Amino acid sequence: MAEASKIPEDKFVAMVTAKAEVDLRLSDFAPRSQQKVAAHVVQQPRFPVIDYHNHLDSCDPRDVLRVMDSCGIEKLINITMQTGQAAHEIFDRYHRAAPDRFAAIGWMDWTGIERSDFVQLSLDRLDRLAEHGAQGIKFWKDCGLTVRDASGALLRIDDERLAPIFEKAAELGMTVMFHTADPDAFFDPIDRFNERYEELAAHPEWGFSDSPVSKAELLAQRERVFKRHPNVTFVCAHVGGYSENLSLAAGMLDRNPNVSVDFSARSPELGRQPYTAREFFLKYADRILFGADLLPEVEMYRLYYRFLETADEYFDYPTHASRQGRWNIYGIFLPDDVLRRVYRENALNLLKPR
Ligand SMILES: [Zn+2]
Repeated sequence: MAEASKIPEDKFVAMVTAKAEVDLRLSDFAPRSQQKVAAHVVQQPRFPVIDYHNHLDSCDPRDVLRVMDSCGIEKLINITMQTGQAAHEIFDRYHRAAPDRFAAIGWMDWTGIERSDFVQLSLDRLDRLAEHGAQGIKFWKDCGLTVRDASGALLRIDDERLAPIFEKAAELGMTVMFHTADPDAFFDPIDRFNERYEELAAHPEWGFSDSPVSKAELLAQRERVFKRHPNVTFVCAHVGGYSENLSLAAGMLDRNPNVSVDFSARSPELGRQPYTAREFFLKYADRILFGADLLPEVEMYRLYYRFLETADEYFDYPTHASRQGRWNIYGIFLPDDVLRRVYRENALNLLKPR
């Protein structure tokens, strides 16, 4: 019988099994890619762009216009995060600055939710928003997740009490935008297995692993609303919450012809699955809206164009400061007829003249 101890060390086995235990701080790790691949900076988009999802409350319209003019943004939709008088003033400020270049979406105001006349209050608020030119009303992720009614119970997205608000929006020609749930990783514990660990460490309030409501449940509630209001036009921000699983996004769009999605803040997710994402854009070219959801800056927009227009490989994605995860993205080289719709025409179809 051969004795193992007599076999000399196999250098190959030693090489392929060596592991490092290092204590470089994750925050200090900043590797630089050594890949030499073609890079195409897209200075100007191939067609004029309508940014259907941004937040400009604290910006100066003149500064924003300078950015828009430098990088081909024809029109920008400000989703205010203010409510009431403050929101109206912001809408008016942008309208005065450049009526053709800006449009507005209001923010669902939960103030007074404990009141018995909350629905009527909300309908009146919608009227005020419409008078100030709002093109839509946005229901943020707090709906279903943290907003509570007078009894202290979580308000469900499909709570029948909200139904008249959706119907009223349609009457006023407004779209209803939903940002429901968040990336899958936000519903997982913030630990070493979480692919968005650094982002969540920077924003612990974005973690919902202890939420009493699951992501799937939130999205199911929302879909009941789509079904119940076939005459309402809905826009789901952030690929409807399905950017890690585009087959689910496709199913949602197939089942609900009254729904479109924007892909704001999700190019990092889409650009790491470029083959699947490209197919998705080709198939749903009429249902996808361009949105940035990042402070208006020329370089940010150019990264979006590079993602949509080029076949570049492994480049930085547009992002907020804490980034989304430690990966890079690939371009999806959309054809002109798709680009034209995603950049501009789909948004034009939703916007009404003011
Ligand atoms: Zn947003």
